[in-house]
Amino acid sequence: SEVTVAPLPSEFGRGATVAILDHSVAEEAEQVRRDFVANVSHELKTPLTAMTGFIETLRGPARNDAKARDRFLDIMESEAARMNRLVSDLLSLSRVQAEERRRPSGRVDLPMLLRGVAATMQPSAEAADCTIETLGLDGSLTIPGDADQLVQVFQNLIQNALKYGASGGLVRIVLKRIDHEPLLRGPGWSATIEDRGEGIDDMHLPRLTERFYRIDTHRSRAQGGTGLGLAIVKHIVNRHRGRMRIESRKGEGSRFTVILPEGTKRG
Ligand code: ADP
Repeated sequence: SEVTVAPLPSEFGRGATVAILDHSVAEEAEQVRRDFVANVSHELKTPLTAMTGFIETLRGPARNDAKARDRFLDIMESEAARMNRLVSDLLSLSRVQAEERRRPSGRVDLPMLLRGVAATMQPSAEAADCTIETLGLDGSLTIPGDADQLVQVFQNLIQNALKYGASGGLVRIVLKRIDHEPLLRGPGWSATIEDRGEGIDDMHLPRLTERFYRIDTHRSRAQGGTGLGLAIVKHIVNRHRGRMRIESRKGEGSRFTVILPEGTKRG
């Protein structure tokens, strides 16, 4: 805790209250906030700088060059799209963080939701020459949860599997019931998104869900990533009182597992 109030000896004598302010926690949070603002600014500034440069070129040297104009407009359009994605993800993140303490009030049919997400991702999978394989998604089972947010979780994870999975590869979605999940100390459901892609070096695993943490920033940007996907996933999973497990082996692939409580309270 940041402030301890205790009956300690005071210069004011008996009955006085002494508050000990421990700034270390608050200062650490402040540092995290500052880093975040610096990151956001940098991420927004990069496309803005590019766009400003192209506008100047279009006004000047490329004024009468129709071919260059079309090419620069295409680039500006994609830079604007990047800024749009970033702002959308920032809004998502801030909404999800604001709601994190409030339990989701809805109910979600988990296999149906996963079947829906798999279908939505089919075109992206085809574009990446990738096959999506599903296991355990038959039937229906309902857990407490926020459907829109859980869709976002699995979309982000599958998108990553497609982005960082080897082209021409395989992405598996597996839903399983776990009688006793140690991470939940009880029964739950585990939904795994697995790819046979490049894998992730051990040293990165603990930091992967941090905002803007990327293994290869150029690569992530080139793929249209914002570096916020897994941070959003983490907060949504927390809100559902769930857990996340990331397993990976460099050169072989990665497995992201979301573990959700079954939802039935046990006395
Ligand atoms: P991004 O928008 O960069 O994809 P994420 O928060 O979704 O941001 O992921 C953070 C980083 O984690 C990515 O930049 C990538 O380096 C790494 N990563 C995420 N998923 C995978 C995966 N399935 N395989 C390999 N690396 C991954």
